[in-house]
Amino acid sequence: MQVGIFYTKPYLPRVKCDYEIIVIGGGLAGLTAAIHLVLEGRSVLVIEKNEYPNHKVCGEYVSNEVVPYLKRLDVGLQEKGAVSIQELQFSTVRGVSVKSKLPLGGVGISRYAFDHHLFQRAQQVGVHFLIGQVNNVLFKDSYFEVNTSLNETITSIFTIGAYGKRSVLDKALDRSFIQNKSSWMAVKNHYHLEDFPEHLVGLHNFEGGYGGLSKTENGAVNFCYLASYDSFQKAGNIENYNQQVVSKNPFLGNFLKEAQPVFDQPLTIAQISFEPKQAVENHIIMCGDTAGLIHPLCGNGMAMAIHSAKIASELLVDFFSGSTMTREQLEKNYIRKWKKAFQKRIWWGRQLQKILLKPKLSNILLKAVGKTPGLLNFMVKCTHGKPIS
Ligand SMILES: Cc1cc2nc3c(=O)[nH]c(=O)nc-3n(C[C@H](O)[C@H](O)[C@H](O)COP(=O)(O)OP(=O)(O)OC[C@H]3O[C@@H](n4cnc5c(N)ncnc54)[C@H](O)[C@@H]3O)c2cc1C
Repeated sequence: MQVGIFYTKPYLPRVKCDYEIIVIGGGLAGLTAAIHLVLEGRSVLVIEKNEYPNHKVCGEYVSNEVVPYLKRLDVGLQEKGAVSIQELQFSTVRGVSVKSKLPLGGVGISRYAFDHHLFQRAQQVGVHFLIGQVNNVLFKDSYFEVNTSLNETITSIFTIGAYGKRSVLDKALDRSFIQNKSSWMAVKNHYHLEDFPEHLVGLHNFEGGYGGLSKTENGAVNFCYLASYDSFQKAGNIENYNQQVVSKNPFLGNFLKEAQPVFDQPLTIAQISFEPKQAVENHIIMCGDTAGLIHPLCGNGMAMAIHSAKIASELLVDFFSGSTMTREQLEKNYIRKWKKAFQKRIWWGRQLQKILLKPKLSNILLKAVGKTPGLLNFMVKCTHGKPIS
């Protein structure tokens, strides 16, 4: 179902569009932006290629920094059973470990539950949905034409790109990072393990990668890891890799021995790129991973996705509520605010990942953290933001 609107900003041509805003991708960033915008009176269509609910490859640790903002949108995570996490355990390839209280803490909730909760809230407030893949977006001077796999062309005044790390759309838009092959892949499964502590998130190193362990709302423990292709290729498949490489870290070895997998097959994703991206491209306002991906060890990608959706939504609300801001000014403001909020965190994440993947350096880091517990707090603070509401 579409709505017709007649748009009359003085310095833009008069254009009849189907929606004020089309959001491409209904993950965390896209759904958050859609809810925020509709609550402020805007007409929004989300185009998502997959049916809800579904599982996603993710560490499933959400930083508390976005919890107050989600509450403001009436998206409570505790009410869905999210578990409170206050402690981090970090271990080296050989299983030497250190624990530290997390300065801000977070919650454990599966993406299956989290994304579905947002989807239901979005439907409740009146966001329109189309299940299909966006194949291309054309900017026509003052409005967008969005082409979908259902052979539909839908028009909007603004378009938010919230389609995640990598998509056919990146090729269609000829984004520069898509030209380069990435050397990272990720694997995830849920497990049953009775006595896994609820309040703890584990970050465990192994040769060529690292993995996170934490509990989710339904009692399952999520184990999700990032691995380099080089290290994975030698093992040939996930089972061998888990046995020959991942399990060399005694924490992970014991976990994989004792825990029972929930999914028949683990979920995997490939070609994970950490290369810089543009926050606005072809006039599309990029949110979440579409604008830039922080290294997963930081446990902050979801919070960044939600925060970037808030920044974009606030500017769009401002634009439609009579401000004199032009499209160009809105885009410039978004880029500036995005950089201010996230550029430093991404830089820190890159440095920490370099250290973590070098066994000698990560040993030194672990010893330093053991002697100076405040160091871990400092590192967490460098890769996280302050609570937003
Ligand atoms: C291994 C790993 C572990 C991680 N662990 C954590 C963690 O513990 N904590 C944390 O905070 N972050 C973590 N992250 C990061 C986090 O998963 C992402 O930052 C977050 O999912 C970004 O949300 P998003 O909305 O930008 O993208 P997504 O959640 O990926 O949503 C994008 C949506 O767009 C849809 N889509 C794609 N292309 C199209 C198209 N052409 N048309 C229509 N729809 C489309 C997809 O189906 C998807 O639903 C991890 C990342 C990795 C790789």
